[in-house]
Amino acid sequence: MRAAAIVVSGGLGSRMGKPKQFLPLAGATVVEWSLKCFADMPEVEAVVLVLSEDAMKEHGARLASGKVRVVPAGSTRMGSVRNGFAAVPPDVEVVAVHDGARSMVTAEIVRAAVAEAAKSGAAVAAVPVKDTLKRVPKGGVAVVETPDRAQFWAAQTPQAYRYAVLKEALERFRDDADATDESQLVERCGRPVSVVPSSYENFKITTPEDMTMAEAILDARAGASRLTKAGFGFDIHRLVAGRELWLAGVKLPHDKGLLGHSDGDAVLHAACDAVLGALGLGEIGIAFPPSDPRFKGLASREIVAHTLGKVAGAGAEIVHLDCTLVAEEPKLKPHYESMKASLAGVFGLPSARVSLKAKSHEGLDSIGRGEAISCHAVATVLAPVSPRA
Ligand code: MG
Repeated sequence: MRAAAIVVSGGLGSRMGKPKQFLPLAGATVVEWSLKCFADMPEVEAVVLVLSEDAMKEHGARLASGKVRVVPAGSTRMGSVRNGFAAVPPDVEVVAVHDGARSMVTAEIVRAAVAEAAKSGAAVAAVPVKDTLKRVPKGGVAVVETPDRAQFWAAQTPQAYRYAVLKEALERFRDDADATDESQLVERCGRPVSVVPSSYENFKITTPEDMTMAEAILDARAGASRLTKAGFGFDIHRLVAGRELWLAGVKLPHDKGLLGHSDGDAVLHAACDAVLGALGLGEIGIAFPPSDPRFKGLASREIVAHTLGKVAGAGAEIVHLDCTLVAEEPKLKPHYESMKASLAGVFGLPSARVSLKAKSHEGLDSIGRGEAISCHAVATVLAPVSPRA
């Protein structure tokens, strides 16, 4: 199936104060979400974006890329569709016309409309009307009829047409034809038009409240494409005389400290390795090799800062850190709260998202003899699913 799309976004935004199609929405703009849906569909070989002359000057160069072409709007919606249609490759089978302000359109809706248009000539994405309808003659308030709601559908876009069907409608009617969509003109040509069940989320962004709803829907969809991942980290350092004891970013009172190239903070090291593990990004020794003299005496907060940079770079978010110290001395219970607060602070997490506790090693082995302190950590991370995964 060879298909093309016309995304109509030539409005001047009288209801929102400025052109709504360029308002920021969930990390992009209103019209970019609409464009992305069609541009990402392999079966849509050309996308024609219709913009006002001013918007073309300001945004045209940025938005025209790959299969997206930008053309100027007409003086009416019909004129804009006509200009868009002129830029569609004439050998495509189906042309889908879409409102740029329906940012929540999905590939499934487009595919359903395109498939139905290929079969029957013209198809309109639509949803059954939920509210009871009242007919009130223009200018009045008196209800004269309550029509059977079951017979009514609210028309959305995309509206898809076989190329020749849309061509005929545009040739038979002028740009000032009294029509709010092209499918009415196809009906007037005496051709069949079918509805294709769509989603109530595919509404047209018209008023400021619609932006709030749209943002919530797009954010929820982004959340659905994130995965919760767990990572595990471990670290151990020798406990020796004449060193400061740093754990979880806190300097603890003790006559011994952890030996290491850095400050030896086994909690921060294990926590960083757990986070990197959840993201599949190795461990801290790769970025901070102990053999590199530049990192001698390094504060482990620097290692955390590096790790948080990796988290941000991956578009991920740390959900929770759980750390278990294993130490015979000093007694760590009195320092739980200060270490927990520090751990949360260093990782920039609310305190409810960190946990820290300690165990002894029951006098067994090197840790049990007080020769070392170790730490185990589990990180829970919310990571985006790669579109190619
Ligand atoms: Mg270490």
